[in-house]
Amino acid sequence: MKKSAEVVIIGGGINGCSIAYNLAKAKVKAVVLEKNYIASGASGRCGAMIWAQWYEGSSEVLAKVGNMTLNRYANLEEELDADIEYTLESSIMLVKEGEEEKFEEDMLELERYFNVRPEFLKPEEIKKIAPYIGVDNLETVGGYLQTGHISSASANPFLTIHALVNNARRLGAEFYTNTEVKGIIVKNGKVEGVRTSQGDIKTNIVVNASGAWSADVARMAGIKIPTKPFGEEAVVTEPLMPITYFPLALENYGRQTKSGNILIGEEPLPEQEPGYSTETTLDFLPRISEMLLKLFPTFGHINILRQWAGVEDVTPDQLPILGRADEVEGLILACATQGFGFCLSQAVGEIVADIIMKKDKHKDIAEALSLSRFEKKYREFSGRWYTD
Ligand SMILES: Cc1cc2nc3c(=O)[nH]c(=O)nc-3n(C[C@H](O)[C@H](O)[C@H](O)COP(=O)(O)OP(=O)(O)OC[C@H]3O[C@@H](n4cnc5c(N)ncnc54)[C@H](O)[C@@H]3O)c2cc1C
Repeated sequence: MKKSAEVVIIGGGINGCSIAYNLAKAKVKAVVLEKNYIASGASGRCGAMIWAQWYEGSSEVLAKVGNMTLNRYANLEEELDADIEYTLESSIMLVKEGEEEKFEEDMLELERYFNVRPEFLKPEEIKKIAPYIGVDNLETVGGYLQTGHISSASANPFLTIHALVNNARRLGAEFYTNTEVKGIIVKNGKVEGVRTSQGDIKTNIVVNASGAWSADVARMAGIKIPTKPFGEEAVVTEPLMPITYFPLALENYGRQTKSGNILIGEEPLPEQEPGYSTETTLDFLPRISEMLLKLFPTFGHINILRQWAGVEDVTPDQLPILGRADEVEGLILACATQGFGFCLSQAVGEIVADIIMKKDKHKDIAEALSLSRFEKKYREFSGRWYTD
């Protein structure tokens, strides 16, 4: 293994690999250290929806990052010269009685941030264009037709990450798997290297892209960051005939894969506690099956093939932390991309590479998403805040 590096990135997930690729493009050769295998964390377990609008509260800065990432994704196959199964689908976001006001606010945000307003369809109109959707089961008053890349794109996460890795390698980045970072060497407030299960590496720049483990890794450099790990589960069914409009509700996200499988998961439950477990639960399966049956009553005979869980890192304000850690020179944070990190990753790669190279092109985003936005008291991570 290398004894020194210009930049060491901790974490071989979509964010670490995207940062390595963006640095390599600018001729900065980074070393990526991954304790397991590439995409073994949340990135290899995600739904891989590329949506800039997540219906759970947006913000101007998130919309900016969202727009940036969507534009990059749209050209990524060409740029990486690889098939990543990038797909634009159409979906219908079903609105239940009592949810109209919330959706009206979301639509205003969509107009403000992305300059689009999806068409609203009445239940009869939905039945006409998508008779397989369980409109009557869901007590819906209608739904928003979503097309285009604001809320209906996706890709294959493994193909995307490996395309980034291959391109980064070709341009000089190095990747070490089964290499756990055990410590960050800090002297006089400056990063001097990392201690790993395979030996030490000298470096003056360490990027914490370790996803759900980001608070543990930050603590290795003596700082506290307000991120907590929260688990999320999903399932995938047998392949179905192509579905033109995928039904969505506030409680679920989902899509049809290129091979025809239905991939579906649910939004986190209010009572969920933080933790690192990637065990699947018995409660989830009947709950998600019921949801599938409500959405697709005519596909009740289809089998669920696989259920899995992953862990994502979450902050009290549900926004990522990107940028320098003021207390330790040379420590860069690229974490807390929550439940939309696959989507944001192409912007995260560019923004973090920019911060490392001190180019300041995305200074406004880096300022809005810096660690210093949290008051010191939050960094103690008392209590639970994901769904507070
Ligand atoms: C079920 C599920 C569905 C999701 N669906 C979507 C979706 O549809 N769209 C979307 O945009 N996002 C989705 N997400 C969120 C998304 O997966 C994450 O935000 C994103 O993958 C985070 O990427 P990352 O690279 O920051 O972290 P990770 O992919 O978790 O990578 C971090 C890596 O760091 C490594 N690591 C940790 N500690 C160390 C150490 N000490 N030394 C070396 N390596 C270390 C880990 O092994 C891991 O591989 C979903 C997540 C889950 C769990």
